[in-house]
Amino acid sequence: MATPKKWVYLFHEGNAQMRDLLGGKGAGLSEMTNAGLPVPPGFTITTEACNAYYDNYRPGAEKRFPPGLWDQVLSAMQWVEKKTGKGFGDPQNPLLVSVRSGAKFSMPGMMDTVLNLGLNEETLQGLARLTGNERFAYDAYRRFIAMFGRIVMGIEAKKFDEILERAKESRGVKLDTELDTAALKEIVAQYKALYKEEIGSEFPGDPYEQLRLAIGAVFGSWMGKRAVDYRNAQKIAHDLGTAVNIVTMVFGNMGDDSGTGVAFTRNPSTGEKVLYGEYLQNAQGEDVVAGIRTPKKIAQLAQDMPAVYEQFQQVAAMLEKHYRDMQDLEFTVERGKLWMLQTRSGKRTAAAAIKIAVDMAKEGLITREEAVLRVEPADVNKLLLPRFDEESKKKAQLLAKGLNASPGDATGLAIFDPDTAERLGKEKKSVILVRAETSPEDVHGMLQAKGILTQRGGATSHAAVVARMLGLPCVAGCEAIRVDEEQHLLTAGNLTVREGDEISISGSTGEVFLGRIQTIPPEFEKEADLITLLSWADKIRKLGVWANADYPRDAVQSRKFGAEGIGLCRTEHMFMEVDRLPIVQKMILSKTDAERQSYLDQLLPIQRGDFIGILKAMAGLPVIIRLIDPPLHEFLPNYEELLVEVTGLRVAASAAKDPELTRLLSEKEEMLKAVSSMREANPMLGLRGCRLGITMPQITTMQVRAIFEAACILKKEGVDVHPEVMIPLVGHVNELKNQQVALEAEAKKVMAEQGVTVDYKFGTMIEIPRAALTSDQIAEYAQFYSFGTNDLTQTTFGYSRDDAEGKFLLKYVEDKILPANPFQTLDRDGVGALMRICVEKGRKVRPDIEIGICGEHGGDPASIQLCHELGLKYVSCSTYRVPVARLAAAQAALQQVEKDK
Ligand code: PEP
Ligand code: MG
Repeated sequence: MATPKKWVYLFHEGNAQMRDLLGGKGAGLSEMTNAGLPVPPGFTITTEACNAYYDNYRPGAEKRFPPGLWDQVLSAMQWVEKKTGKGFGDPQNPLLVSVRSGAKFSMPGMMDTVLNLGLNEETLQGLARLTGNERFAYDAYRRFIAMFGRIVMGIEAKKFDEILERAKESRGVKLDTELDTAALKEIVAQYKALYKEEIGSEFPGDPYEQLRLAIGAVFGSWMGKRAVDYRNAQKIAHDLGTAVNIVTMVFGNMGDDSGTGVAFTRNPSTGEKVLYGEYLQNAQGEDVVAGIRTPKKIAQLAQDMPAVYEQFQQVAAMLEKHYRDMQDLEFTVERGKLWMLQTRSGKRTAAAAIKIAVDMAKEGLITREEAVLRVEPADVNKLLLPRFDEESKKKAQLLAKGLNASPGDATGLAIFDPDTAERLGKEKKSVILVRAETSPEDVHGMLQAKGILTQRGGATSHAAVVARMLGLPCVAGCEAIRVDEEQHLLTAGNLTVREGDEISISGSTGEVFLGRIQTIPPEFEKEADLITLLSWADKIRKLGVWANADYPRDAVQSRKFGAEGIGLCRTEHMFMEVDRLPIVQKMILSKTDAERQSYLDQLLPIQRGDFIGILKAMAGLPVIIRLIDPPLHEFLPNYEELLVEVTGLRVAASAAKDPELTRLLSEKEEMLKAVSSMREANPMLGLRGCRLGITMPQITTMQVRAIFEAACILKKEGVDVHPEVMIPLVGHVNELKNQQVALEAEAKKVMAEQGVTVDYKFGTMIEIPRAALTSDQIAEYAQFYSFGTNDLTQTTFGYSRDDAEGKFLLKYVEDKILPANPFQTLDRDGVGALMRICVEKGRKVRPDIEIGICGEHGGDPASIQLCHELGLKYVSCSTYRVPVARLAAAQAALQQVEKDK
């Protein structure tokens, strides 16, 4: 007869590489045992045994232990008995065990642990004697019956709870700990009666029967609804199976030479290299968690039990070195002997993650590459933004939840119009600007606000884009609130927030709170570890990291963050400023070319000043300036509001016969006519981008003149300038040709006038699928491409970027119709495929073509990975995402190396 398969591994028979077979917990316990650490004796039943129990999921198969399993469990138990000197079911010196599930991937909440297995009426007495504490023994027993009844036999927890509550009530006590031995004895009796009533048989006193049932229950839990749902959601295969760990119980409550605790090998909140944790003398693990007694700092262990502390310190250091990461440890001291119960990589804050990675690389424990891979890009973000003080946040009332459009946390006065926000902001008050949605006319208020909250709009809405650029927290598309800009208030359910009331928003989570939450401000220059980590990342990454910046102030900040160029300067934001808008409006409404030119002549020096500022701030680096892009109506008053105003004026003017009113009416009527003539059903697909330049060439000609005059002036002053002129929204090569030929002629004219030449490029954005598909034609003209993936996503999916997120996109993501919001993370299969075609065709015609990305995706780590794969030259992102992009670009390069191996 063939020897049966090996289903059971004693801890010393396994190792860390056997996660598939032994699960994560089993592999960890094996690894610690083999490292010579004090782990309570035990063994692991393999995941294969679990699969065999299900007969490998054959439909209709009977579930049973595979041949040989139970015999192997029995002999493993004998080994444990020998090792511990205790007997399973022995009333004199009872061996008790815990039974724990442990799949390859941690599946929290799938199956609780059963502790104290092996207790019955006889062994209970042994435990009482050994601990010298009858109350403790009965308490352990009643917990065991409830745990076993609930977890193994599926009895409703609340039925046990009711018995406990009744017992406390009848004795007039509040806490479990106040129940005396007599009470606990009574509860045990009632629990057993409940068990019999529910299951139809006595509570099993035979420890082996308990063990057999508990193992079966862990196997059974693998295919329970909770676990199946969890795996479906996490995309974990159902045929991995779970392992079962049987571990000797050790007790930390056997007197003052016993105790239990948890500790991290480094401070998980700051990253400092000190043992960090707490412990309780003469207590069990549950007591620490339940918060019944206040634990002592781990350092106190050095005083209470010096030898144990010394050993624990060594164990902690060894485990950290072994796993090459900060460890989260659980331990118990039983009568002066240290036992390790768990080790795993510890969770940590963003600040700690960065410090630990950098310190470990400096200590030589990990490489610099590993340090770069250890830090989550989101952690970098967290460090650069104001964040809520956690304690303060716990006390705040949640008002609503919207889209987490721009990360960071902010607290301030709710203000409903940009003028007041600007005024109060300048008075150094903290302001949260609340709008139904924002428009470019709100920018002055946004600039002075600490955060933005909008009822409508998605991740590429105006509010979100500008907020990210400014590094401001923003919650957008918060449809659960109603913003009444007229009344200066917002409502959420039956709550009302009025102008000047304090609110707090988290752009990282999308949460909106009532009242003030304390915030902690960021300071990049002081983040020495982050600066070190990013300098390592810079040596690894292949992608350049540029910034989207419209103002010299943002350009300067971007450079401080490490930007190597400006990938997008949106010139229209300059047009929107309060002192310029009236000239821009008159220019748009001009009836003749000559009139229009006169206003453009007024704008020219202003724009030149803008460009001097930004080119100077970026001296030595490329600056891509995009020519005017948005539909012209965005610079004009809102049609509906104007209509209301004109109607009112008509009524008033006919009644009052006031010449001033009549003059005002005719002025407004004129404006209404113009605005009406420019209205479009789909403005985002209408007269915008290069279409504007083609139909109204004077505007772009003025802009190019301003760029080159600025560049020439600076060059003459000795500033190293590299302007690149970007023509937006090209779909057909002839559009680019039309604009580029004329504009390059203007550029040359300016340089001739100024008597100096500057290094420059002309190129285009790729925002329309047709442009990507005909890249071989477009590259004949363009010296550079920049993927405008906001528009490219909109035009590829046919989703309106202004409407989709508020209307259906978030639901699409929730319902898994789409794997992610394509306006936040590049859609590889569609948009990504177009980008690939575009890159390949473009490079065939112009091998040295400079290709980058400036859509919002340029700051998204997953999208940055795709950009790396496509071999782009750079990613350009909002100022405050530059550090994140530096790290993500390095990680993409390292992951590529791994893949190519
Ligand atoms: C884009 O479309 O990706 C882009 C950067 O341009 P905008 O968002 O200004 O349309
Ligand atoms: Mg665009």
